[in-house]
Amino acid sequence: LDRDRTWSVLAAPLPEGILVSFEDVSELEQAGQARRDFVANVSHELKTPLTAMLGFIETLRGAARDDATARERFLGIMQREAERMNRLVNDLLSLSRVESDERMRPTAEIRLGDLVQSVIASLRPVAEPLGVTIDIDCSVDSQTIVRGDADQLTQVFFNLIDNAVKYGRDGKRVQVHMERVSRDSSLRGPAYHVTVQDFGPGFDPIHIPRLTERFYRVDSHRSREMGGTGLGLAIVKHIVNRHRGRFRIESTPGNGACFTVSLPAVA
Ligand code: ADP
Repeated sequence: LDRDRTWSVLAAPLPEGILVSFEDVSELEQAGQARRDFVANVSHELKTPLTAMLGFIETLRGAARDDATARERFLGIMQREAERMNRLVNDLLSLSRVESDERMRPTAEIRLGDLVQSVIASLRPVAEPLGVTIDIDCSVDSQTIVRGDADQLTQVFFNLIDNAVKYGRDGKRVQVHMERVSRDSSLRGPAYHVTVQDFGPGFDPIHIPRLTERFYRVDSHRSREMGGTGLGLAIVKHIVNRHRGRFRIESTPGNGACFTVSLPAVA
């Protein structure tokens, strides 16, 4: 027996002797552990803003009761914490939806170029005040068709471009590149590649294998400061899987991060 695995052993007396059966329950154990970790993480993520809000409510009813400036400031902080909880609950709902649908392939015809352009348009008002420009260069026409779920693909590109603006803001520029390849070896056919590149600090490539885990962050403090939930890339990974696509992460520390989504092209 492999000692690194977990076995369930059952022994039953039979007239001819004893029947002993061994069952490998390692995967069951791991799934149970993952579920327990997830519940602990969610509880922690919800408890942090809740504790802050309870503290401010107490202060507002006590020491800061008659201080209009403090009241305004504390209400502002409470609003930001409540908004973060709201984003977290929305991300948890998205994640559970895409995880449960992962085996079903979405079939609507989506114009990928138009979809990416509209995500960029919705994020420009966020990027501009930070001094960040979002450029797109596109070697395919905007009517490029893929089969998919428009809301979910919008979420994929929103999460990636929003991260590039948030974490890469020092680089002042986010570059989105879109192209068609006639044969993608891992998708075994024609594909569209959409790359989101920023020129910010990036991260050590050592983090790459874990970045799509739920609640994994390179720098927790910075993620929280940016209002992150730690679920964005996990959602991206599941949606891309659901579309039978591929998701690749690259980074050069000090010179930006690059995220590529490849989706099978409709011939
Ligand atoms: P979050 O809500 O924390 O942004 P994500 O799942 O979207 O969660 O991202 C996970 C972590 O990956 C982030 O906390 C951040 O540390 C890192 N990250 C994501 N995108 C970038 C980027 N463009 N540049 C640098 N770090 C990034």
